Amino acid sequence: MTQETGGFAALDLHPNIVAAVIATGYEEPSAIQQQSIPIILAGHDMIGQAQTGTGKTAAFALPILNRIDPAKREPQALILAPTRELALQVATAFETYAKQMPGVTVVAVYGGAPMGPQLKAIRNGAQIVVATPGRLCDHLRRDEKVLATVNHLVLDEADEMLKLGFMDDLEVIFNAMPETRQTVLFSATLPQSIRAIAERHLKDPKHVKIQSKTQTVTAIEQAHLLVHADQKTSAVLSLLEVEDFDALIMFVRTKQATLDLASALEAKGYKAAALNGDIAQNQRERVIDSLKDGRLDIVVATDVAARGLDVPRITHVFNVDMPYDPESYVHRIGRTGRAGREGRALLLVTPRERRMLQVIERVTGQKVAEVRLPDSQAVLDARIKKLTNSLAPLVADAEASHGELLDRLTADIGCSPRALAAALLRKATNGQALNLAAIEKERPLVPNNAPRGDRADRPSGDRPDRGDRERRAPMPLGEGRARCRTALGARDGIAAKNLLGAILNEGGLAREAIGRIQVRDSFSLVELPEDGLERLLAKLKDTRVAGKQLKLRRYRED
Ligand code: ADP
Ligand code: MG
Repeated sequence: MTQETGGFAALDLHPNIVAAVIATGYEEPSAIQQQSIPIILAGHDMIGQAQTGTGKTAAFALPILNRIDPAKREPQALILAPTRELALQVATAFETYAKQMPGVTVVAVYGGAPMGPQLKAIRNGAQIVVATPGRLCDHLRRDEKVLATVNHLVLDEADEMLKLGFMDDLEVIFNAMPETRQTVLFSATLPQSIRAIAERHLKDPKHVKIQSKTQTVTAIEQAHLLVHADQKTSAVLSLLEVEDFDALIMFVRTKQATLDLASALEAKGYKAAALNGDIAQNQRERVIDSLKDGRLDIVVATDVAARGLDVPRITHVFNVDMPYDPESYVHRIGRTGRAGREGRALLLVTPRERRMLQVIERVTGQKVAEVRLPDSQAVLDARIKKLTNSLAPLVADAEASHGELLDRLTADIGCSPRALAAALLRKATNGQALNLAAIEKERPLVPNNAPRGDRADRPSGDRPDRGDRERRAPMPLGEGRARCRTALGARDGIAAKNLLGAILNEGGLAREAIGRIQVRDSFSLVELPEDGLERLLAKLKDTRVAGKQLKLRRYRED
């Protein structure tokens, strides 16, 4: 479709708006834009339902810009957004689309910044106010007339606003505006609470629903990896070795987990940072800016902190912890594949969470394929490829610039060019030997090839036919066994045979009764018979290994 005959030009928008939109690189309106723009232009109230990443901002921003009068220096449109980040994003979008409309000003109103300048910008004649409900109510308390001239209201991400508890603020805002206003509501989901608001505050709204649950995620290649909770960090590190990513966002459930994982990544040399609700808002913005411009490559975030995050560089989303519901899954993975780009989403699934995986597959209407941890060979190949890619461009002219130096050094040292090149490689790789043996030593635990045992770790009554997927799942728990943990590990000088010996001797068990023993750096796991476990643990209460108390406890992974 050419721009002259269709696309944005066919939508009855002001030519200056169309020109600005085309200048941003949009070629055609998205489905929600195609359907919403004529309705809003015609002045109707509207409810728009579409998933993240479908282009809802322009769906309301373009027609709203078209409907305001730049000559009137007073607030005419109010857009409510759930968070400061989203409000800023929407305000920036408005500014972009209004680039060729002289006289149009946009003000963003949000908490954490002084109120004075915001109020001044409104009074100075900003026609478009983009606000979070909480801060806007603060302004209303100071001046109840602030919204008296606003005749277009947009609720963006209405479901998120309600989740964040803005219901009462919204009521205050509705009541501070002229009843004759146009009201438009956008939401990814339409729970009863939103329908109730629409019922009370919208007039004969037109409904637009984009059935895009799957459409939003088709550009995103999804995969999952079965892993035990305590192996997540090492799994993430292995995956990073082989994934070809630009920027990456990892989701975890807790603030502490954002900090722990981010520092584990930093320790491995990745440019990573945590993003969580405890981090001050201006600092959060700095993190996002750094991710945008490449000073950071990985952000480890909680759902709340990453809400609405739009960074085109993001090629990968790692769901390190399972999302709470399938909708947040869709939200999370919508952080990649922005604007039709390709993205990749990986979901770590612990044995107990397999059921949630099925729910996600059902809701998104897509299979989330299983992948396995890269083996040592794959890691080796990836590292060599990286090294090759970094050196290849230098080869062409290095001889011209450094050839003579090489001759001199080989002469001075009295070695072959091959020996010197090898020494330089050792330096370039920080002494890391790039061979299988070295990599295997680095990665003591690759849970890939464990045989599949009983499904004791799966919720009972849930026995779907998963074909050969089940057989390949990592780290099964042997039949009738329970996993137990001790805080003794390799750093305490413990080896599997010490644990085995102690348990056999003190516990009076047969060798066959003891299952897998895994010794990690700071702890170890042992599989013991479920039957009579409490008695056995009591018996082992005072057992010492390598001079330290064993203190074996039943272990639950999540
Ligand atoms: P939503 O609010 O539905 O999550 P956004 O409005 O934030 O989606 O848009 C998602 C991304 O798609 C943004 O980067 C935006 O610039 C881009 N985008 C929006 N509309 C178009 C379009 N018609 N063509 C290309 N890219 C678009
Ligand atoms: Mg949006």
